[in-house]
Amino acid sequence: MGLRDFSIATLGSHSALQILKGAKDEGFKTIAVCKSGMVKPYQAFPVAEEIIEIPRFEDFLTVEQQLIKKNAILIPHGSFVAYLGVEKVKGIKAMYFGSKAILEWESNREKEAGWLGRAGITLPKIFTNPKEIDRPVIVKFYGAHGGRGYFITNNVKHFQERIKLHKGEQYVIQEYILGVPIYVHYFYSPLNDEVEIMSCDIRYESNVDALGRIMARDQITFEKFDPSYVVVGNKPVVLRESLLNKMLELGEAVVQESKKITPKGLFGPFSLEGVITPNQDFIVFEISARIVAGTNPYIAGSPYTALKYNEPMSTGRRIAREIRMAIEQDRLHEVIDNDHAGRN
Ligand code: ATP
Repeated sequence: MGLRDFSIATLGSHSALQILKGAKDEGFKTIAVCKSGMVKPYQAFPVAEEIIEIPRFEDFLTVEQQLIKKNAILIPHGSFVAYLGVEKVKGIKAMYFGSKAILEWESNREKEAGWLGRAGITLPKIFTNPKEIDRPVIVKFYGAHGGRGYFITNNVKHFQERIKLHKGEQYVIQEYILGVPIYVHYFYSPLNDEVEIMSCDIRYESNVDALGRIMARDQITFEKFDPSYVVVGNKPVVLRESLLNKMLELGEAVVQESKKITPKGLFGPFSLEGVITPNQDFIVFEISARIVAGTNPYIAGSPYTALKYNEPMSTGRRIAREIRMAIEQDRLHEVIDNDHAGRN
């Protein structure tokens, strides 16, 4: 079967434009599954050969049979997993690029911490008992997209006042790390057994990033204001070169450790999300086991991919390249997670 016998499909949101552009550049047919009323970008930018409309993102599975018939390979992204939920994603029968088993480790804070900790990664200290709070902490609510309601405190009294407003919500109390929040984007190729750094970004978040534009004197006038971390966009950043060695080591360690928790381990794109301190330590507060939207500034490639590839290489295109190599080497089953992979 040739490349044009396959389609690359994803949900029209998050990093879909990048994924579909990359798939097109690698020679695949492309499909955007869009929510009605959210189709315009996928018509305006000619990266999807076909657009399938669904009423809500949650209705994605109603078009699954159609996608299977088209030999579509699904590429998950952040919105894909957020709208469908881990259980539905695990039940997907269409060809799916990536490791489904790893989603459970990524979406469960304890499992995630165990995995990263065993990989030698430093995580912010977690306070299970609020009475032990002895430094600035950030209180994060589970499933609170965009960090709505997160608050910062440094003592149990203030913590108890604030937590009253969040009755019944699950949360974690995490040491607040003062430094620069950085998102490092990786790609692990199971075909080449190589971890690549694709790019890095800084998020621009509303309204927390507006604070620096107001003097402390004026900030006080916003007494009742609650910071939120809703991502508005992503800014490119290039790390100082002396950090790259450590970042590569950390990426490799996470992949190695992932192979101990599930047979195939983590593969494809992933991101380590953390804070770089003045001592140049990278304290990781989260891993995303899939393409992150912070790769979007690099549709034409990043400074790192320019060093490795003599052509524009986005993370989206790198995914399609891996699938293309797998098809050409008759190893598609190694990058596809489901029952249908064996049939080609
Ligand atoms: P996502 O949408 O990626 O799941 P989220 O928006 O729910 O995440 P986080 O990414 O965990 O929440 O945190 C939101 C923001 O808070 C981050 O972008 C970062 O700037 C900051 N942050 C998170 N954890 C810490 C920490 N331990 N110390 C300092 N800053 C932090």
